[in-house]
Amino acid sequence: MENLIKAENIVKSFGKKERNVIDDLTLDIGKGEFIAVMGPSGSGKSTLLYALSGMDPVQKGRVSFMGKDLSLLSEKEKAEMLRTGMGFVFQQPTLLKNLNILDNIMLPACRRGGEKREIIAQRARAYMEKTGIGGLEDREITQVSGGQLQRAGLCRALMNNPPILFGDEPTGALNSRTVEEVMDLFSLIHAEGRTVFLVTHDARVAARAERVLFMADGKIVEETALPAMGGGTREDRVGLIRKKMEKIGI
Ligand code: ADP
Ligand code: MG
Repeated sequence: MENLIKAENIVKSFGKKERNVIDDLTLDIGKGEFIAVMGPSGSGKSTLLYALSGMDPVQKGRVSFMGKDLSLLSEKEKAEMLRTGMGFVFQQPTLLKNLNILDNIMLPACRRGGEKREIIAQRARAYMEKTGIGGLEDREITQVSGGQLQRAGLCRALMNNPPILFGDEPTGALNSRTVEEVMDLFSLIHAEGRTVFLVTHDARVAARAERVLFMADGKIVEETALPAMGGGTREDRVGLIRKKMEKIGI
């Protein structure tokens, strides 16, 4: 499989005397892969996500995105890569309070420039329909549910058609029915050929992935390849993940 992101022996710490939050970690993310990352709180999952996306530089080792060493990119190139190469969804959607839902979703494409506003709006509306929030265009972000807000966050993350979607506990604030609905969307996004890299503490969420990485103290200590969607029931996959979680004490 062709690599999308390659991390080689990366090290990250927050201060010279501090322990390494990411400790000599090596990881290949293949194009089109769906990876979930699990691990105890403080094990370095979010830090890894920031390092892989180039949002936060590493102190040692190397991260490459589509064959390009991130540390060699200019600020401008890095900003462009973050805008068009990667989408992000967080536990709390970071939508802007002074914009309605539609304008929030359009924002990344407007910032990138080069497209007519009407074209951008059309694409945003199409994503809203697809994710089940059509009709909420004019709502304020305080006038929709948590699940609807997360769907809007997903639409926004996809606006510039990035090859990879990163999620840091994107279902952490949702109730269990909404979790499944939002995860159906992640599965759909993956089925369309995008790479998905998801941090989660929920075995049912991780069971959507093809590969689950388990982190402890800044290292990947376990890795499980899950049977392809067709083989093995969801419960089998969840069971397998729970067993591993127990083993490393999550
Ligand atoms: P996780 O997402 O697995 O819960 P994090 O990656 O957020 O863990 O954090 C791992 C460790 O790094 C924690 O001990 C945390 O306190 C520390 N850490 C994370 N970000 C910073 C930061 N900006 N400054 C100092 N320490 C940090
Ligand atoms: Mg975290």
